[in-house]
Amino acid sequence: MDLVIREVIRENVRISPLTTFRIGGLAKYFFEAQNKKELKKVINWAQKQNIPYFILGGGSNILVSDKGFDGLLIKVPAKDIKVKKGRGALRIVKAEAGVLLSKLIAFSVKRGLSGLEYFIGIPGTVGGAIYGNAGWPRNQKSIGDVMVGATLLMPNGQITKKRADWFKFVYRSSKLKNFGSKKIIILSAEFQLRAGDKNEILQTQEEILSVRKRGIPKGYSCGCVFKNIEIKKNHSSFFRFADQLPLAFIKRGSISAGWLIDQCGLRGYKIGGAQISKQHANFIINVDKAKACDVQSLIEIVQRQVKKKFDINLSLEIEYLL
Ligand SMILES: Cc1cc2nc3c(=O)[nH]c(=O)nc-3n(C[C@H](O)[C@H](O)[C@H](O)COP(=O)(O)OP(=O)(O)OC[C@H]3O[C@@H](n4cnc5c(N)ncnc54)[C@H](O)[C@@H]3O)c2cc1C
Repeated sequence: MDLVIREVIRENVRISPLTTFRIGGLAKYFFEAQNKKELKKVINWAQKQNIPYFILGGGSNILVSDKGFDGLLIKVPAKDIKVKKGRGALRIVKAEAGVLLSKLIAFSVKRGLSGLEYFIGIPGTVGGAIYGNAGWPRNQKSIGDVMVGATLLMPNGQITKKRADWFKFVYRSSKLKNFGSKKIIILSAEFQLRAGDKNEILQTQEEILSVRKRGIPKGYSCGCVFKNIEIKKNHSSFFRFADQLPLAFIKRGSISAGWLIDQCGLRGYKIGGAQISKQHANFIINVDKAKACDVQSLIEIVQRQVKKKFDINLSLEIEYLL
């Protein structure tokens, strides 16, 4: 390892405290980038050495192997947030990808800017939210609705700007998910917000937070494990049990994965230290020093049971780093 790289990279770093699940072994290498230049240099080094790398945001949507990651775990720069004037009441807020989403929301709300308040309470970073098009299902809003563009570091080392349509945002996904090991790194993103009534924005936030407080289980988790099912895409299986579905699902056009899991009698089911939440069956909670393999076993059981009962394939909202 050359001297400059050695100075910025740490070795054998515990990953579990960097995740909301508190699961995972050691990262062989760990690097917290302070700026783009440093990041480019380290990526270039990893590529030359054939070392796999993975971008870690807030670690709130990943399940990391008990064996850890035999590669380079990277945190991207997380300092800058600024606001630019747009047309009329519109404002553009730009944030580095490593900035916590909560910090970006607080920054915007403080200035009376509306558009991001719907995402209050979602853990993680700006980069992680864009990668998975995070959102609040109750009002069908997703981060891709307000992001207007982002600056990316491409695998060939080029820095390029892309507009929102390039990302092909859909429910809990973006084009970035298709690139696998050829990682595209989000460096920063711009959001189009609207100057509004600060009290109204704060009230919206309060309402969402109070719903979240009642609905989201406490404890170490990585949020919803499975994606909800869009009704349009599953007509044949859906009609077989349409009469059992709560009306709310039909109205909003999607079936809650938690409801399907619950119907299989799996609420509270436990393997090792991991348990399907008694409060919300789409959450798996690390109740007692759970291993990644405990969580994986639960995931497999859920997928098998839901397939058997409803003929529906539940797909993962979380990502494995195994
Ligand atoms: C209690 C709880 C509640 C939650 N509620 C919600 C909710 O209401 N709605 C929702 O959508 N999600 C929710 N989540 C899931 C999670 O918080 C979101 O998916 C979040 O956006 C993930 O961001 P992160 O920074 O933690 O990403 P990570 O988990 O660190 O990473 C997720 C993926 O994003 C990639 N990534 C991260 N940063 C970058 C970058 N800069 N460039 C390229 N790729 C990057 C990673 O490589 C990884 O593939 C919840 C999670 C928890 C624990």
